[in-house]
Amino acid sequence: SCDQRGLPLLGRSALRMSILLLGANGQVGCALQRSLAPLWHLKACDRHSADLEDTQALASLIHKEKPGIIVNAAAYTAVDQAESERGEAEAVNTKAVAVLAEVSRDIGALLVHYSTDYVFDGKQEQPYREQDPTNPLSVYGQTKLAGEQALKESGCKHLTFRTSWVYANGGHNFPSTILRLARERDSLSVVADQYGAPTHAELIADVTALCLYRTSLDPGQQKANLGTYHLAAQGKTNWHEFAQHLITAAQEAGLILLTTPERVRAINSDEYTTVAQRPTNSLLNTQNLTETFGIYLPPWQYHARRFIAQIAEQEAK
Ligand code: NDP
Repeated sequence: SCDQRGLPLLGRSALRMSILLLGANGQVGCALQRSLAPLWHLKACDRHSADLEDTQALASLIHKEKPGIIVNAAAYTAVDQAESERGEAEAVNTKAVAVLAEVSRDIGALLVHYSTDYVFDGKQEQPYREQDPTNPLSVYGQTKLAGEQALKESGCKHLTFRTSWVYANGGHNFPSTILRLARERDSLSVVADQYGAPTHAELIADVTALCLYRTSLDPGQQKANLGTYHLAAQGKTNWHEFAQHLITAAQEAGLILLTTPERVRAINSDEYTTVAQRPTNSLLNTQNLTETFGIYLPPWQYHARRFIAQIAEQEAK
C-alpha cells in the first residue's frame, strides 16, 4: 500500500527503528557505517565502546539502547593465528554471538550477522548453496560455524550473510598485500588452485542495507525472508588470476610497480603452506539472495577496478 505521496507505507515499528552496529572499524564495519546511515538512526560501536569479549557489558548496552536491529560486523578474523588461539577466536566468533542472539531474541531485535565460506571444506565442485553440508578445515571456520549454530538455536530473528575473500580500501587483505609486494619485488608467486569470488566490503554493506530496507517495507514477509544467505560478487577466479588482474589495473591506472602481470607465477597450495588449511573451492551460490531480495550482484572485477582506482586517485593528490 502507498501513502499520499506514493511512497510505500512502512510498518510503524520500522519508523522507530534504530540500528546498533558492532565492529564498526573493520572492513565490513566501516562500509556499513556509510551504507546503513540513511536507513534509520545508527549507533556505531568499535571495540572500545562495545567489546564482544565482555558479554555482560555487551548485554547491558543492548538493553539500554533497545535497537530494532543489531548488525554484528565484529569477528576474530586472524585465520592462521586462530589455530593457536582457539579460546580467543571462540570468545568472539561463538560465545559473543550466542549472547547477541539471546539478547536479540529477548528484546525482539533482528540480528544481522556475517559468516564465511570457511564453514565448508571446499571439496565440492559446484558453488556451495546455503544448505550444503558444512565441514570447516580450520579453527576459525569451526568457531564461525559454531556461532551460526548458536544463532539458529536461539530462535532470534536473524539474517546471516556468508561471504568470501573480503577486501576493502585501507584494510589488511590480499589486494593490499599484492600491491605492496608488486612495488617491492620484480616477481611474485601466487596460489592458483584455490577458487572463489573476491567480495568488496562496500558490496556486502550495500546489499545488507538493501535487504534490511526491503524487509522493512514488507513486515508481513519479514519472517519468510529471514535466515542464512550467501553473499559474494559474481564470477569465479583464483588468487593468481586475481593478482594479475589487480596488477594490470594498477598499471593502467598509472601506478609504478616492479612486477608485471607476466611475472606473477602460478603455484599450487602445497608450495605455499599456511598454518590453517583453506578450502579449495570457496565459491558460494548466491541465487537465494538475488531471488529473495531482487538484488543484482556485480562481477568481482567491478569492485576490484574501483579498489585500484581509489588508490590511484589518492596517490595522485
Ligand atoms: P575485520 O578483521 O576487518 O574486522 C573485524 C572487526 O572486529 C575489527 O574492527 C575488530 O576490531 C573487531 N573485533 C575483533 N574482536 C573484537 C572484540 N572482542 N570486540 C569488538 N570488536 C572486535 O573483518 P572483516 O570486516 O573482513 O569481516 C567481517 C565479517 O565477514 C566477519 O564476520 C568475518 O568472519 C566475515 N568474513 C570475512 C572474510 C575476510 O576475508 N575478511 C571472508 C569471509 C567472511 P579491531 O580493529 O579493534 O581489532
